[in-house]
Amino acid sequence: MIPYGRQNISEEDIQAVIAVLRSDYLTQGPVVPEFEQAVADYVGANYAVAVNSGTSSLHIACLALGLGEGDWLWTSPITFVASANCGLYCGAQVDFVDIDPDTFNLSVSALAAKLQFAEQQGTLPKVLVAVHFAGQPCEMQAIAKLAEHYGFYIIEDAAHAIGARYQDRPIGCCQYSDITTFSFHPVKIITTAEGGMAVTQQAQLADKMRLLSSHGITRDTAKMTQIPDGPWYYQQLALGFNYRMTELQAALGLSQLQRIDDFIKKRQDLKQRYDILLRNLPVRTQKALAETRSALHLYPLQFDLAQLNKSFIAIFNALRACDIGVNVHYIPIHTQPYYVELGFKHGDFPAAEAYYAKTLSLPLYADLSFIQQDQVVAALHEVL
Ligand SMILES: *Cc1c(COP(=O)(O)O)cnc(C)c1O
Repeated sequence: MIPYGRQNISEEDIQAVIAVLRSDYLTQGPVVPEFEQAVADYVGANYAVAVNSGTSSLHIACLALGLGEGDWLWTSPITFVASANCGLYCGAQVDFVDIDPDTFNLSVSALAAKLQFAEQQGTLPKVLVAVHFAGQPCEMQAIAKLAEHYGFYIIEDAAHAIGARYQDRPIGCCQYSDITTFSFHPVKIITTAEGGMAVTQQAQLADKMRLLSSHGITRDTAKMTQIPDGPWYYQQLALGFNYRMTELQAALGLSQLQRIDDFIKKRQDLKQRYDILLRNLPVRTQKALAETRSALHLYPLQFDLAQLNKSFIAIFNALRACDIGVNVHYIPIHTQPYYVELGFKHGDFPAAEAYYAKTLSLPLYADLSFIQQDQVVAALHEVL
């Protein structure tokens, strides 16, 4: 089976992890700060906090922005559940903004209309999680303009988008947001097995996130409420978590980061090849915005089912039968039973539901060979 995504592991990656295993620190050593600094430098952020997953980075980002009971968090329905769950972890309520049928990202016009309505209802969001779906940056400048007008914070969920660019700046520089979060799960652009990072330009947010990522405990005397009892002394100042990244993960991430531009170049070459090889089929893919570079985490392919006279599930099953590991990203979150229980229903976000009814992800990753890609394309031609 050709999977839809997988990691690229080099001999250098393996040696970097082994070196940590032979060192004094498996956790809380020097490599995590080194990885944080390297990512901060790469994305143009002042501060970076490494954690044990992308989900954890979203959680501490929401908490650092003060999200809590009585607040609203909004995001896109076409994303991984973690983009919404982080709001529920904080006791906030979650709502969704329907997607743009061309970019598959949250629709700025739907956002503007929903904000206008929410203002009248007194239900404006405190936090908007803007997901750069498949690595394609959202229209951040327009979103930031709305944030300024209505007074909400922006978290960029860049789990798909490390290495992407918006208006010639790297995603992660937070020009139009408060915090950007990354995931280093093996299917993402670079991996630490499990892992994530939150980056920001604001020292205060970085301090809060760092505190929350390690039990809410500090050893910094300047932050303590009293003079330390002795050299052993630490203080718990908030209710934090153990969300720390290990040295092993950081060593892998640091080694992977050396090849990130190479990974994205390979994804770009594959994407261009797909575009050309599929151009005669009744299909389309994600629309790219001007002045952006997608990190190309996914290659979503949308079928014109009426013209094909085939059902989506028949196409999906036939491709899987050809050993092509196509997948679906994502099931609209508001249709998940947990969210239905919260009051959402089918029909709430029609563009997201229409997308879900006809879109699957083709294999796309740095190690996918052109020969494998040709197999995918041949299977598609056969099936359609
Ligand atoms: C993968 C992913 C996450 C969660 O990251 P983990 O590292 O798996 O916790 C969050 N948001 C999006 C959009 C993702 O794809």
